[in-house]
Amino acid sequence: EIKAEANEASAMEAVLKEFFGYGSFRPFQKEVISEILNGKDCLVVMATGSGKSMCYQMPPLITKKTAVVISPLISLMQDQVMGLRLRGIRAEFLGSAQTDLTVSSRAQMGEFDILYMTPEKACASSASFWSSLLHRGVSLLAVDEAHCVSEWGHDFRPEYQNLDTLRPHLPRVPFVALTATATHRVREDIVNSLNLQEVFTAVSSFDRSNIFYGVKTFNRTSAFREELAREVHKDVAEGGSTLIYCTTVKDVREVTEALVKTGVDARPYHAQLSNRLREETHRAFSRDELQVVVATVAFGMGIDKPDIRRVIHYGCPKSLEAYYQESGRCGRDGLPATSWLYFTRQDFLKADFYASATLSDARRSAVLEAYTAAQRYCSSPDCRRATLLEYFGEKSPRKNCGNCDNCCRPDGLQLHNMAEAAHLLLTTVKLCGGRWGMNMPVDVLRGSNARKIIEQGYDKSAVHGLGRNKSVLWWKAFGDQLLIQGYLLETRKTTPVGQIRLVSVAFKGETFLSSTSCVGEASLMLPLSP
Ligand code: ADP
Ligand code: ZN
Repeated sequence: EIKAEANEASAMEAVLKEFFGYGSFRPFQKEVISEILNGKDCLVVMATGSGKSMCYQMPPLITKKTAVVISPLISLMQDQVMGLRLRGIRAEFLGSAQTDLTVSSRAQMGEFDILYMTPEKACASSASFWSSLLHRGVSLLAVDEAHCVSEWGHDFRPEYQNLDTLRPHLPRVPFVALTATATHRVREDIVNSLNLQEVFTAVSSFDRSNIFYGVKTFNRTSAFREELAREVHKDVAEGGSTLIYCTTVKDVREVTEALVKTGVDARPYHAQLSNRLREETHRAFSRDELQVVVATVAFGMGIDKPDIRRVIHYGCPKSLEAYYQESGRCGRDGLPATSWLYFTRQDFLKADFYASATLSDARRSAVLEAYTAAQRYCSSPDCRRATLLEYFGEKSPRKNCGNCDNCCRPDGLQLHNMAEAAHLLLTTVKLCGGRWGMNMPVDVLRGSNARKIIEQGYDKSAVHGLGRNKSVLWWKAFGDQLLIQGYLLETRKTTPVGQIRLVSVAFKGETFLSSTSCVGEASLMLPLSP
């Protein structure tokens, strides 16, 4: 048995390397994948961006049996399918009428590693569809965004409630539920509704320690919007993207208008805009061609931009789950990020309106309770982080987090001595002689042996590989900080292939370098986690 386990482990690592190019698993991934391979049902509750998808993408590649993945949005599935195909994985989705017939018959032949389906499609599929698929082999059935099954969740979708009807069609196939937010109650709902058996549960901490949380009251006036626009203008000038969430389309329009008037390049995003416009905005934002998006909750799932620096809520969301998820879109790269929530009493008066007429009793009390929790959060004098964590059933590590408005003044950001890293990056930029952008010095620090590095002889330098313990993303973000602080200098040069950015050491950086022959004594304080 030990030998079998070792074989399984090495098969997993080989697949990880071959298809995904990663050298190691994140800790929970290995455990969950092993449990799935052993036929166990699993519940995976982890932050967005933590790598949950790997849990259902890996087993089909190991067992050569199709994985069926239930996902709520076609656009999300299309993105995933495209990404997987680029990695040489046979992925497809069932849900659009035009292609369904061929896809369905190919699926039944076992032609796909991963088959995405909407919940409607899955529940409407015939017994014979499932039995042919099963005959070829099914490695698992995954339910992504599994909180949608729960009336207590913030994104309830009735179509998710019938997924247990798939169980008899897929005997002995492990069911895997995945979500980024779930209170205890929602977790219970998921287990019950999907009829999960002897479930293996993997839950990560909800603490996003790099996010500063703050709450303020406001009024929906043009004066306030102008003030907000000036703030955003200032923040954006310092770099990084900003996402502003509004509760209504009207708010989106008014806030966007105020921003544009102030000279901020901001665009609106809400369900009433055409698909084309929305996609364009999404794309521009992901590519850093657009710094500010003002959106309703319609801008949500599928955003995985790692370097959003600020999320602002113009009005309180309907629940803390929604707030946690939306605010959590900033700072995915682990660097400091800020989440401000502006609320007014009006936000909570709406609760009665939403919860009034059409809802079932259970749903109505769920909506009201969610609002109450959000209201309590807004008016609490306690640590915001502790309040959020406790809401998700987690004990806060400290009573005072030092990184929220109630624990400290907003300008009292925690500073860290980054002298050692600064010394490395500045030295390397200097080595590169101002002839390159930020990529080159970062690649040198990370120990890359790319051709351009060997051609320049940078692989022979003393700094080559010294920055391996930090990611490329981290170094780039750190470089941005040094630029903002004036240690580095960026110039633009026009070349036949377009404008390129060159980075060099600024006067302030030179002074720092020459004053720090002994790095241990130097000090360079930045609001950045080491
Ligand atoms: P989630 O589904 O939890 O939101 P994803 O599955 O989209 O997160 O993964 C987030 C990012 O992390 C993706 O870019 C993914 O390729 C990457 N990732 C996943 N697993 C690993 C790993 N073991 N090593 C490095 N990167 C990983
Ligand atoms: Zn705090």
